[in-house]
Amino acid sequence: IEQDALLRKKHHIHVSGSNSPSPLQNFAELSSRYGCDSYLLHNLAELGFKEPTPIQRQAIPVLLSGRECFACAPTGSGKTLAFVCPMLMKLKHASKDGIRAVILCPTRELASQTTRECKRMAKGNKFRIKLMTKELVRNADFSKLLCDILISTPLRLQLAICKKKVDLSRVEHLVLDESDKLFELGMLKQIDYVVKACSNTSVIRSLFSATLPDFVEELARTIMHDAVRVVVGRKNT
Ligand code: ADP
Ligand code: MG
Repeated sequence: IEQDALLRKKHHIHVSGSNSPSPLQNFAELSSRYGCDSYLLHNLAELGFKEPTPIQRQAIPVLLSGRECFACAPTGSGKTLAFVCPMLMKLKHASKDGIRAVILCPTRELASQTTRECKRMAKGNKFRIKLMTKELVRNADFSKLLCDILISTPLRLQLAICKKKVDLSRVEHLVLDESDKLFELGMLKQIDYVVKACSNTSVIRSLFSATLPDFVEELARTIMHDAVRVVVGRKNT
């Protein structure tokens, strides 16, 4: 416990919420504490990622322990890996059960960037990771399309749900990335629609943001029940 507090202090990690798990000392703990598959550790090493960033140290154990996570850390501090790594570990391997994870990003560029990062981390595993494009909404028969992880903007995904193209009832992990921007861009209605479509009662929701204005705190409160709140550095920098 003392050690957890010291490690958090050293990395300016602030946690609130009941029973928050210990922060990671290093990436090796992904395998010693959580039995992480070797492909993932191999990819981390290949990318030259030697140490977890502060947000990764705390958000990864929170999500691996099955808790909802509400995370805020500055731009460029590795938030993508903080949710992609536990997502890949929880999903374990590709399946034909339909979409099991959804990542919402505020813009198409961010969605395609996140898709690339996700694929880089999943290399060596057979996960099907799909970016929701216009063509996909228009043409794909989602009942036949194999997809484990779907990445989309809220609007595209809402359109696809409306057209009865996608079934999100089996989604186990829902991430709202850059939630401050999602909110600023007025996507609340679409987000709400997607949140409702992910109707599985055991879905784990998480919210990542670079800033924490009151409206993001409010959004977090409305969609999460018992989240661990992780803030790195100061709130609005
Ligand atoms: P954010 O979403 O917080 O703005 P990103 O997830 O886009 O940040 O990460 C920023 C950059 O840092 C990316 O190029 C990413 O590959 C890199 N990165 C992520 N985690 C680590 C790490 N543990 N060590 C070194 N670089 C990392
Ligand atoms: Mg990001």
